[in-house]
Amino acid sequence: MNKNRISLMSDALANQIAAGEVVERPVSVVKELVENALDAGATQITIWLEEAGVELIEVQDNGAGILAEDIPLAVERHATSKVKHYEDLSNVASLGFRGEALASIASVSQFSLTSYHADEPHAWLLQNQIDGRWSDLTPTAAAHGTRVKVASLFYNTPARRKFLKTPRAEFSQIEDYLKRTLLANQSVGLRLVHNQKQVFDYPPATQRARHLSRLASLLGDEFVEQSLYIDQTLPGVSVSGWVSLPTYHRGLADKQFVFVNGRIVRDRQLLQAIKLAYADVLYHGRHPVFVVFIQVPYDQVDVNVHPAKYEVRFQHGRQVYDHVRRAIRDAVMQPLVMGQAANAR
Ligand code: ADP
Ligand code: MG
Repeated sequence: MNKNRISLMSDALANQIAAGEVVERPVSVVKELVENALDAGATQITIWLEEAGVELIEVQDNGAGILAEDIPLAVERHATSKVKHYEDLSNVASLGFRGEALASIASVSQFSLTSYHADEPHAWLLQNQIDGRWSDLTPTAAAHGTRVKVASLFYNTPARRKFLKTPRAEFSQIEDYLKRTLLANQSVGLRLVHNQKQVFDYPPATQRARHLSRLASLLGDEFVEQSLYIDQTLPGVSVSGWVSLPTYHRGLADKQFVFVNGRIVRDRQLLQAIKLAYADVLYHGRHPVFVVFIQVPYDQVDVNVHPAKYEVRFQHGRQVYDHVRRAIRDAVMQPLVMGQAANAR
């Protein structure tokens, strides 16, 4: 036998390898499942965790649900309802689009998906089995929407399981991600339960008063009192959100949130642009607090840079950075120019 012969990998192995990229730790699973729920138009999402997600991650939404016929496809790799042609990639409005999250997650966990689509007579359940195969679709009782259960994460990939941090560290990453999600999706209600204890329960915030109370609870009353609401539309980009007044700052740059087309990003150049907006009003070493939403035409931003999708590439990066800097600079300089703290809220 020549051991250098080439053979195709099994689907199971291919999925596990893909999982290496998409599913690094519990927070990656939570992120993918919550994004799917948001893409499905959910207005209420509940997340149950056991042991910081290592033992159990369960996400239930009241979104559109999946047709019975499509459920087996949803868990296949490269199966998605969100992109059909290459050109669609330049117009991605949904959070997901790679069509590999569920297949990847399922390949490294004990996985089940229950979904109840309005056009079906009842809900359907699909589970993976210990041999990696899928069960038959079985009828079940459930509320409208989708519920995904991910148990014993990485049970079959011990190397990965070994690299997990302490439950406390894993949990804090999940909490951090969910906080950003709460900021980015004000109209969605989000409830988190960890080890059978409720951690939070934010109702959908559809009015301004609710927005502010969500903001206050996530970033503090003081931020809400000492921030300005901005909303500027310029050619090719609009910038909105809450930015701290020059009188409110921190020693750490840890409360700075930027979203591009509703997506959480950690784009260094964008953060830098905002930092520059404060250059004249903050001492060196002090950092502003902000929640900034940037909206650009979908075909002018590439979200396909990295599987975890934290980076974005703008077609007109320079213009976007300039606009963002200027919009925020004008806002935070305004009270100084007026000689008073004119709070635009
Ligand atoms: P992607 O989100 O990149 O399309 P996923 O593997 O995450 O890939 O999901 C595959 C498909 O399954 C989605 O395109 C969507 O049609 C369906 N799906 C997954 N989760 C949900 C959900 N919570 N509600 C409705 N449909 C879902
Ligand atoms: Mg997805």
